[in-house]
Amino acid sequence: APTVVLFRRDLRVDDNAALAAAAHRGTAVMALYILDEETKDVRAMGAASRWWLHHSLATLGKRLGHAGANLYLARGRTGEVVAKAIAASGADCVFWNRRYDPSEAAVDASLKAGLREKGLTARSFDGALLHEPSLLKTGSGGFYKVYTPFRKAMADKTDIRDPIDPPGSIDGWRGEFAGLRLDDLDLLPTKPDWAQGLRESWTPGEEGGQARLHGFIENDLADYERQRDIPGVQATSRLSPHLAFGEITPFQIFACLRKSKSAGASKFRSEIGWREFSYHLLFHNPDLAGRNFRPEFDAMSWRDDPRALQAWQRGLTGYPIVDAGMRELWRTGWMHNRVRMIAASFLIKDLMIDWRHGEKWFWDTLVDADAANNPASWQWVAGSGADAAPYFRIFNPVLQGEKFDPQGEYVRRHIPEIGALPDRYIHRPWEAPASSLEGKNIKLGKSYPRPIVDHGAARDRALIVYQSIKGEK
Ligand code: FAD
Repeated sequence: APTVVLFRRDLRVDDNAALAAAAHRGTAVMALYILDEETKDVRAMGAASRWWLHHSLATLGKRLGHAGANLYLARGRTGEVVAKAIAASGADCVFWNRRYDPSEAAVDASLKAGLREKGLTARSFDGALLHEPSLLKTGSGGFYKVYTPFRKAMADKTDIRDPIDPPGSIDGWRGEFAGLRLDDLDLLPTKPDWAQGLRESWTPGEEGGQARLHGFIENDLADYERQRDIPGVQATSRLSPHLAFGEITPFQIFACLRKSKSAGASKFRSEIGWREFSYHLLFHNPDLAGRNFRPEFDAMSWRDDPRALQAWQRGLTGYPIVDAGMRELWRTGWMHNRVRMIAASFLIKDLMIDWRHGEKWFWDTLVDADAANNPASWQWVAGSGADAAPYFRIFNPVLQGEKFDPQGEYVRRHIPEIGALPDRYIHRPWEAPASSLEGKNIKLGKSYPRPIVDHGAARDRALIVYQSIKGEK
């Protein structure tokens, strides 16, 4: 009897343990993607992720097609759709790769129990993480809350498996199933079509991910440690959306880096380690996106300021490095990590707006929106997270801009209306004397806003509020 293989955020054929095991059984394979927006508590994907998903499914469908299998698409509750797929195909086995978001893991656990009750085989495999979050434990048996010992625990586990070869060919099940066409999933924006910048920036899918990985190793890895904080240059891998959709696995990345002992490779492995740490935190704290990891932050008095929130979302705060980041995000669906930290710090500490508003905006607009990395990083910046930035670290957006984008290359790329400012004013346009604006068509307050808050005053305000909740511990 056939095997149903469920695809979720593992949209690949290479290093796909569930698919390889199904092909190995020697019976027909029914490959199935279910867009489950109905199961309670499973977070619906944001708009940029849906755009990515559409193209990734298209690519996966082609790749599976070449190997001999159809990719069936469906919408609905996972358990109900799987039951229909079994009824249609007569399958006796359902295989999938594990998910670690607790609400999704709960769906899979109940699916497994239900299938086994009916005497069917249900098996889950690894693939998304190098280390199962349930198996890495502190000396006292708990979970890790600090990165350094977590990283050490990971480093002690050197038995990282090799990537699994793709099946040479798949005997695809080809019967009748009331599936949907890709367009029926309604994943793409209609009017307005805001995806132009995304199309120009990305090649979703497994091959796009492999090309990024190899291009990065050849061209950028050697300088990664030195350049990764400079948003104006192409220095990081931009693998994040490929990782978020499981088009590439950390096993494949580690296998490519295995021989490299360079500082760049070691830093890169450590960043992949942060991803593992975020998942470890999410696995043990299901409501990471909704609840402060440190409960004392529940007493925080955040400001309710919809106008400031909107200025931040649109890249109109008057602080060029923040605005450049927010516009890069809107246009391309991605933002450089250094600028993510600066923009997040600005929302939380300069505007005193609850980090959850920022997390939601990123969730909707990032192509790499990730159930673990996004909330863990927001809580890290807010200071409410595990192993978080100390509360008194408040990024100065001007000094950060001058340090990491000294010639304003990044700012000019995303905010052309102030592109003609001399370098010394590019991160502080409000200080530019009239003589340096002459003939440049820059009208502060008109073509580009004046700062919506004074950073010095905002910093003092944040310190007072943060100190007050510290006192309440
Ligand atoms: P590289 O520097 O090439 O790193 C390689 C990979 O390591 C990344 O693709 C990512 O999977 C992982 N990684 C790197 N930095 C981090 C980090 N700080 N924490 C966890 N994993 C990391 N990353 C996401 O993947 N999805 C998100 O939704 C997300 N939201 C963020 C929100 C905020 C406020 C901040 C400050 C950071 C966020 N990050 C998120 C982490 C980081 O910014 C991105 O992973 C990184 O910028 C992706 O670019 P890259 O692939 O070129 O990174």
